Amino acid sequence: MLMLAIWADVLRFPLIKRERGSLFFTELSVAYSLFLVITILIHLGEEGVFLYPLKISMILWILHFTSFPVLLFMWMHFNALNVVDNEKLVNMLTYIHSAPLIVFLVISAIDITRQKFYPFNLKYEHMLPSMGTYYFIILSLLFCVIMMLSTLGHRKKIKESFLFIVILMPISFTISVVVFFLTHTYGMFILTNSIMLVLYYLLGQRDFYRTDALTGLATYTLLKHKLVRIFRSQAPYAVILLDIENFRYFNSRYGKSQGDQMLVSLAKYLGTLVESNEIYRISNDQFCLSVSIKDGRTVQTLIDTITERMAHPWQLTDRSVHIQVNIAVITIPQQVKSLEEFSEVSEKLMFELKMLKDKTLIVYTRESTTDYERKQNIVSALRESIKNPDQIILHYQPVYDTKSEQMVFAEALMRIQDKHLGFIRPNDFIFLAEQIGLITPLSQIVLSKICKCIKQLPIENTPLKFISMNLSGEDFELVHFKEVMLDIIERENINPKYVNFEITESVLLQSYETVTKAMVALSKKDITFSLDDFGTGYSNLSSLIDLPYDYVKLDRSIILAGMTNYNMLQMLTEMIHKMGKLVIAEGVETKEQLLQIRNVGIDMVQGYYFSMPLSEEDFRMLFK
Ligand code: C2E
Ligand code: MG
Ligand code: MG
Repeated sequence: MLMLAIWADVLRFPLIKRERGSLFFTELSVAYSLFLVITILIHLGEEGVFLYPLKISMILWILHFTSFPVLLFMWMHFNALNVVDNEKLVNMLTYIHSAPLIVFLVISAIDITRQKFYPFNLKYEHMLPSMGTYYFIILSLLFCVIMMLSTLGHRKKIKESFLFIVILMPISFTISVVVFFLTHTYGMFILTNSIMLVLYYLLGQRDFYRTDALTGLATYTLLKHKLVRIFRSQAPYAVILLDIENFRYFNSRYGKSQGDQMLVSLAKYLGTLVESNEIYRISNDQFCLSVSIKDGRTVQTLIDTITERMAHPWQLTDRSVHIQVNIAVITIPQQVKSLEEFSEVSEKLMFELKMLKDKTLIVYTRESTTDYERKQNIVSALRESIKNPDQIILHYQPVYDTKSEQMVFAEALMRIQDKHLGFIRPNDFIFLAEQIGLITPLSQIVLSKICKCIKQLPIENTPLKFISMNLSGEDFELVHFKEVMLDIIERENINPKYVNFEITESVLLQSYETVTKAMVALSKKDITFSLDDFGTGYSNLSSLIDLPYDYVKLDRSIILAGMTNYNMLQMLTEMIHKMGKLVIAEGVETKEQLLQIRNVGIDMVQGYYFSMPLSEEDFRMLFK
């Protein structure tokens, strides 16, 4: 009855049945159901309901008799899969113990032909069991002992709720073997099998209910369960990891409920591409598909379809939005051969995906590890530098008035000086710091260093208007961002007008409302703003017009393009002037570039032609 209930339920949910129960559960329940059918058939034969020809009767008895240790062997394997997390050890255990099982099957066959096998020769029934029967008892006990030893050996790694079942299993099977030896009846064995299957089934169902509540998808734990099976069979599989780029911004810009809707829509969309038991939500904004490569469905088409979909907007209740997903692919068994290796590689790739800005696909290779390690080292260097701010160094690059060639301000540029890695440039660490949430403490250190530098300068008696500092989008995520910044300036006793914040268009557009609010509030305190790297972003001018910034820094690429396209540069400069802002040319390296920007009327210039970024000491020398 219990088995029928399990089967009815499994059949009701065909798609999730493989993820439901624990590992090897389906195989085990099939085997046990067959055993039950055979037992019932034999019973009906004995009761005289059916009359079998001798051959059929013999086959039934052989199957019945040998299924006891075969089932125990399967239970042992099942137990090992669930308890021993080392795949190699499980395989070794299985190989070693299948040998005595095969010997048993051979002995049973010999025993039958010698007619000493008690079911066929009634006169043996009251006597001692014959050779095969002895062997069978010993073998069954051996399997029980192995189950017990491996369980006890791994007891520390087993979750508490699970521990009860895995300890109960070998004990109850040992009892059922002893009862069989004493009574020659299968009652206890049947009871133990049924109870164990039901217990494991309930445990598996609990896993099912642990699926992600929002999207209804399976979780990382269930993916791991599936992978154990995949690695066991060494079947060709591809695991595709998907990460929504900048999902944190999405949430902060549109709100959490829109973010949730986005996740559900994406989950639904992925559901149209693969079977429901092939999708997992493995972390907040990361999904995973595990697809068999066998059935002609190429991984590349799947990736192309997903990438293509990202070009179109997603319709949420309040608005339609665009998202970008970054994708990483791991193929099994070519690239990754075991679960341990998979966990390691997928962790690295998930980290890599979070850091991706412009690339959208990583195909895992062993070489990518070195890149990952360097990034990990930079992350440690960043953490250390926050504890020890002496390692954070600011260089100051002067910016000159195009006409008077006087220094009018300077931009502070951050570097990290690390014991092991040496001098690290911002392009190597800013995006990492942003992703792991270290940029806000860094920015606070930078601001207080700038304030300290300003204090040392005879700033009131020079044309120097301010020192500018770069801000990231993440800075604005800090709840009391403007208060924290003003606090630092006040603590250092500096007039806020000596500070200018540089922000890029992408920062602005990522969380438009938060940034504009902060900009308006800080401008009221006399802090000025510059729009950095103009010409590299989306250049959504309409959303930039009304914002309180005074300077626009044209990116080096625009200056380079302007060398051959005079009109473009001139029109751009005029347009910005009409908006009431001043124009700064970035990255000016040659005399020709300087002449060109002077001709088009650009107000200020920054670049190697005039000065490299200088150490604080060298920078101060300019005022001597
Ligand atoms: P950015 O704000 O556009 O800074 C200008 C970058 O151009 C600096 O690179 C500077 O050294 C470089 N540069 C200046 N003149 C020339 C030139 O004539 N030719 C060329 N090819 N390059 C020139 P750096 O110092 O490597 O900084 C790179 C970026 O890192 C900065 O770009 C800024 O976005 C970011 N960054 C730097 N410091 C900070 C910081 O304290 N906080 C944040 N959030 N970002 C920072
Ligand atoms: Mg800048
Ligand atoms: Mg710039």
